[in-house]
Amino acid sequence: MTTATTTDFEPVIGLEVHVQLKTRSKMFCGCAVKFGAPANSLTCPVCLGLPGALPMVNRQAVEFGMRVGLALNCQIAHRVKFDRKNYFYPDLPKGYQISQYDEPLCFDGELQLPISDAAGNPKVCRITRAHLEEDAGKSIHMESGTLVDLNRAGTPLIEIVGGPDLRSPEEAYVYLTTLKRNLSYLGVSDLSMEKGSLRCDANVSVRPRGQAKFGVRSEIKNLNSFRAVRAALEFEIRRHIRVIEGGGTLTQETRLWDEDKLETRSLRSKEEATDYRFFPEPDLGLYDVPRQWVEQVRASLPEMPEKRLLRFLHDYKLNRADAEWLVGDRAVADFYEACVRLYDHPKKVAPWVVTELGRELNERNAGIGDLRITPEAVIELIQLLEAGKLNNITAKEIFREMVHSGQGATVVAKRLNKLIEQDSGEVDRVIAEVLAEFRDAAVADLRAGKQAALGFLVGQAMRKLRGKANPKELGPKIEAAVRGS
Ligand code: ADP
Ligand code: MG
Ligand code: ZN
Repeated sequence: MTTATTTDFEPVIGLEVHVQLKTRSKMFCGCAVKFGAPANSLTCPVCLGLPGALPMVNRQAVEFGMRVGLALNCQIAHRVKFDRKNYFYPDLPKGYQISQYDEPLCFDGELQLPISDAAGNPKVCRITRAHLEEDAGKSIHMESGTLVDLNRAGTPLIEIVGGPDLRSPEEAYVYLTTLKRNLSYLGVSDLSMEKGSLRCDANVSVRPRGQAKFGVRSEIKNLNSFRAVRAALEFEIRRHIRVIEGGGTLTQETRLWDEDKLETRSLRSKEEATDYRFFPEPDLGLYDVPRQWVEQVRASLPEMPEKRLLRFLHDYKLNRADAEWLVGDRAVADFYEACVRLYDHPKKVAPWVVTELGRELNERNAGIGDLRITPEAVIELIQLLEAGKLNNITAKEIFREMVHSGQGATVVAKRLNKLIEQDSGEVDRVIAEVLAEFRDAAVADLRAGKQAALGFLVGQAMRKLRGKANPKELGPKIEAAVRGS
């Protein structure tokens, strides 16, 4: 046994997630919210911040923000108040961002994670607040210099601030996937990290295990994927521990993740709230949020994944891994339930959606909306299989073909000539052929009691029948034929 020579450090992580809300128009003006339009084509005096232009609050953005807050079990403020956050940056020509400072729209929520904490209880991460703000423009760095595209300026965002409750990079990763899963049920955002409609900053510190006080934290930016968040946190935790154990001191700072070098580097010391000189936005009034509106929005929320998971486990008796995978994507869970409505055998349907459809989605990195297969086609296929008209292998082949073509199971099975014929004449003829062909080899082995030879003969017959037979029936038939000959 060796004794530990170093202190055991515990990481403390809190994430800030920005989500672009896919409203038709921007947060404070009528310009369209659209990705990929010609640079600076979606701008007006308001989102350019020209003197004298007056902003107006987009009611749909407030409602989308409320949906997010309610889905995260937040309280909803009684009024909407905006503040100016003052800073200078080329993609923010106004010189300030309209945000919410001391009165966030949503606060005191929580997100349940599908993992346990150290004590074995379900892990919960607090949602400190979720507030509305406008996005800045985009700087495009070219060799010749930097260009600015202000199409994004004024796009509504909700910033979701998680409590400092996560204790490992893996927990942070689960938090993000769970948050994204839940938000996907709301239909308020594309949630694409690639397109920038979902962005994450990660705050991390370490402390000796058992110590109540938090350590000095750094905030990591420039994280382009959930994996990057996890990797950056792992790097940063090691760095903190190294500095502390080396007798150095950490300072609170903002650091950038370098995806190529797989390391963080200092960008600036962390700014304080006072640096921004927040003050109430003078061009906007206070807007009431009547409780009736809140309750209307709450009632319009779909069944959320935590609840849906329990229902899938209880009603359909699925195993937890399958049920979790299904509810992980609302469209996939909807597809599965549409199948079950057509054919009330949830456990028979599950592998076709989880394994077969799952593989197709994975291979194409696609959403279910990108595939042409329908619940009707899946059920038709399962019924052909149940009726003995297909075997497991050809059914899977046909499934893949249905995903490509969008055609029904019978149509595809006929086109590929895979339907098992009713009359067994062809089967008997092929068995006789195979027995003759392998009389001195596998057939002799089988007679001598080597059962493995049976599998070989079944495989040969299957091949000659181009898969149009059921191996469970072929086996006994071949055995009977061998004994009878
Ligand atoms: P700020 O106002 O500077 O943005 P907040 O208190 O709002 O700071 O916290 C921002 C994020 O940092 C939150 O997600 C929070 O959970 C996290 N956080 C705060 N303190 C720590 C800490 N010591 N270690 C790790 N994360 C922290
Ligand atoms: Mg912050
Ligand atoms: Zn505008």
